Amino acid sequence: MVEARKLLEWHQAKEKIKAVQQALDQLKEREAELEAKRREVEAKIKQIGEPADDDIDGKIALALAQQELWLVNKDTERFMEERFEKEFSLHESKREWEDKAAGLEASLSLKALELYYKVKENVENPVVEVRRRSCMGCFLPLSVAKMEAWHKGKPLVTCDECGRILV
Ligand SMILES: [Zn+2]
Repeated sequence: MVEARKLLEWHQAKEKIKAVQQALDQLKEREAELEAKRREVEAKIKQIGEPADDDIDGKIALALAQQELWLVNKDTERFMEERFEKEFSLHESKREWEDKAAGLEASLSLKALELYYKVKENVENPVVEVRRRSCMGCFLPLSVAKMEAWHKGKPLVTCDECGRILV
C-alpha cells in the first residue's frame, strides 16, 4: 500500500477511536444525568413530606413529584438495559480500531509520522485524497508538476495551497 494511503487509513482509524470514546463518554454522562435527576426529585419529595389531610396543594405537589420519580426510574431502567449491550459493542469496536491503528502506525515511517503531526498542527484532516486533479482538503486544483509527483506516489506529496498530505 502506498504510504499516503496508509497514513489516511491510520488517521481514519484514530478518528474512529475518538468517536467511539465519545459515545462511551455520552453513556456515562447520561447515567450521571439520570442519577442527578433522581436525587433532585427524591429531595423534592422529602421536602414536601406528609401533607396534612386538608392540604390539597401539598397532596397535589406530592403526587406530581412521585409521578416524576416514577418516570425517572422508568427512564433509568430502560437506559440500563440498553447500556450494557451498547457499552459492550463500543468497547469491542474500540479495541478493533485500536489494533488496526497500532498495526498501521507500526508500518509507517518516522518521516511520514513527523509530516503528519506537522500538518495536523494546522488542520484537523492532514491527509486527503486527490479527485479531479484537485486537493480534497482545500478543493483547489493541483499543478501539473504536483500531479506528476502525486502519480509517482513516492515520497509523500503535499498540497501547495494548504499543505495537506495527498493520497
Ligand atoms: Zn490543498
